[in-house]
Amino acid sequence: MSGTSKRFKIAIARRVVQVVALLIFAAPVIVAGWGVFGGIAGNAAAGGDGMVATPAALPFFGTLSSSSIFGVAVLDPFAMLEVIAASKTFSPSWLLAALPVLIVYGLIRGRAFCGWVCPVNLLCEGLDWLRARLHIFVRERVVPRHAKLYIALGILFLSAVLGFPLFEALSPIGFVAKGIVLGSMAGGLTLLAIVLLELFCGHRVWCRALCPLGGFYEALGRVGLVNVTIDHGACIGCDRCKQACLCDPQILDDAVSGVDGMVRAGDCMACGKCVDACPTHALAIGMTIPRPQASSGTAQGGDDRA
Ligand code: SF4
Ligand code: SF4
Ligand code: SF4
Repeated sequence: MSGTSKRFKIAIARRVVQVVALLIFAAPVIVAGWGVFGGIAGNAAAGGDGMVATPAALPFFGTLSSSSIFGVAVLDPFAMLEVIAASKTFSPSWLLAALPVLIVYGLIRGRAFCGWVCPVNLLCEGLDWLRARLHIFVRERVVPRHAKLYIALGILFLSAVLGFPLFEALSPIGFVAKGIVLGSMAGGLTLLAIVLLELFCGHRVWCRALCPLGGFYEALGRVGLVNVTIDHGACIGCDRCKQACLCDPQILDDAVSGVDGMVRAGDCMACGKCVDACPTHALAIGMTIPRPQASSGTAQGGDDRA
């Protein structure tokens, strides 16, 4: 009983963080929508000229790409790189604004953003739930998961050529955050393509192989103190952790096969789904300073962060 409740703690905590993050980033848009659709109409109906709340008046204002928290600018580092490439200029203030994000995700784990914050992941998990209810089965495809690193580089190159931050224009993440109330269409087609891929093509194709922001955070995820570790003595080789993995089953191979004592892939989202799924509690997630791989596995397993 206590084991069961312990197992679901990570899932509940993650869901709470995902929803709170969505609400925080949607709040300015909701306020703007309220001002446009509610405040103005309400004022007009009352015949008054009362103040209409503006997003900029909130302690938090912005999007997942660029925001202001109590007046301090915070910038998504990948968006910063796109802006530098597009404008061919550099401002130290951009780097200053991106540093908090780099430090936080660098210390935790790059793709913790994907597992705990990104609204597209929340949507995809909703699609997982819907598919299970409707008994729609999608093939697990082996996808070239490092392709997103090269796509991220390609996006930076194209941003420089085209003179505007390309992914910001196409981002499904921005669409989810901004489109809720204001109906912004930027990124809507990308999001539609992701939903279609999820339903009819393969599981997590976008997040595993195509998303440039996921590629950027994969590169950052090669360092990080929050890691999944394994007790090989407790592992019964059932592979339930691999079936549950939000990222890619391959990233658990070395740990489950006994080659390594932890999941080292920069791709790991620190989502804890493998930990929740393990029937013997062989897996754990927490702060760990990565140690070099055991010599027995170095030859075969290699370091997946490379
Ligand atoms: S890969 Fe991209 S869309 Fe998927 S969860 Fe990460 S940032 Fe979001
Ligand atoms: S290895 Fe575990 S923590 Fe990492 S992405 Fe897969 S399920 Fe999540
Ligand atoms: S779910 Fe647990 S017991 Fe099963 S293979 Fe994974 S680590 Fe081993």
